[in-house]
Amino acid sequence: MKTLLRNCVSLSLGDGSAGACDLRIDGDLITGRGRALQPEEGEEVVDVGGRFVIPGLVCAHTHLYSALSRGMPPPDRAPGDFREILRRVWWKLDRALDPDAIYYSALAGGLEALRCGTTTIIDHHASPNAIAGSLDLIRDALAEVGIRGVLCYEVTDRGGLKRRDAGLRENERFIESSAGTAAFRGLVGAHASFTLSDASLERCAEIAREYRTGVHIHVAEDMADVRDARRRSRTGLMRRLEHFGISSRRSVFAHCVHLREEDYRALAASGTWVIHNPRSNMNNGVGHAPVHLFPRRSALGTDGFPADMFEEARTGYFRSAEDGKGGRGRIAGLVAGGWRLAAELYGKPFGSLEPGSVADLVVLDYRPQTPLHASNAEGHFLFGLGSNSVESVMAGGTWVLWNRSVPGLDEETIARRASKAAARLWKKMREV
Ligand SMILES: [Zn+2]
Repeated sequence: MKTLLRNCVSLSLGDGSAGACDLRIDGDLITGRGRALQPEEGEEVVDVGGRFVIPGLVCAHTHLYSALSRGMPPPDRAPGDFREILRRVWWKLDRALDPDAIYYSALAGGLEALRCGTTTIIDHHASPNAIAGSLDLIRDALAEVGIRGVLCYEVTDRGGLKRRDAGLRENERFIESSAGTAAFRGLVGAHASFTLSDASLERCAEIAREYRTGVHIHVAEDMADVRDARRRSRTGLMRRLEHFGISSRRSVFAHCVHLREEDYRALAASGTWVIHNPRSNMNNGVGHAPVHLFPRRSALGTDGFPADMFEEARTGYFRSAEDGKGGRGRIAGLVAGGWRLAAELYGKPFGSLEPGSVADLVVLDYRPQTPLHASNAEGHFLFGLGSNSVESVMAGGTWVLWNRSVPGLDEETIARRASKAAARLWKKMREV
């Protein structure tokens, strides 16, 4: 499939480039960029009429299974702290997930991500009563939507050893089956230090080493994780994770709200990716993440909120501004971090519209009322653009959203089925 995209105004936070251009796409890569490119034989010519084009966005940490939780009845008793939020809400929801609910949550969440211009989702999945094959259900749903997924199953001790081992096997199986595919990759999922024994952490690290991948884990989201690690080992949380080989250039640590300054330096030294989830941190009241201390290898995630990276970036910026720490550049750097992380996971350039980069791009219907160029793109990204600007999306060289509709998918039927699955899920939650 060859496409010539004419009359684009390219805009990238990743490499600071901007300007009028035509883009040539061959297969899943951008192969040409220039002014007035002439069509080649067999090429589909699409004129975008001077619209802005940005690279497809990356959500670096989320849980698609929470897509069916919108409007869910609140727990009988309001949770008093982070552990209670997990016990009374999320751990009830994940226990109630069956294959149908897993599939429809991924389909609904994937469609929502696509409409927000997000073409890669790094997901962290848990469904303790439907573990085997759960990652294939998510893969199938995302493949139907047409976007990429880096998937893992959340290993934890909270359901006993049998479930822990089933989780480890699910990770291994998916890492193996997704390796080398165009759209999917696997990581080793681990819940958090406070629900993992030494032996379980060791097993996660072993699998990551064996398959040359990383561990995707929640770290210091709440002080409870830090206190638990202190109880387990005198050296504390970061040393515990380092000791078992969980920190590495391939690993992804979500949150990192409550670490010490020396721990952030250790993260930078190990090259571990750190993911900031401002909306989730605020919603759970876990504290202010010190983003100004985060290493260069950091990115942005939505942690169960819709994969709307415009909204997440905006919230992250407001939170940092309120704290008096970190400017627009830092938040834009986190968005660009998602592209660098995806590039490492897929072994191809993301986040650029230069030849050689993956053909994941978003066409925006945005009419700026002030000048827009490479040096002020961040300002427009944070205060002008939004998911409502997303008109068309290409992923891997294929139009997966065209003029605000999804070719080949009956979204009304999907919404109806997802809603039914959600109603069943909410009912089941009262029983588990
Ligand atoms: Zn999370």
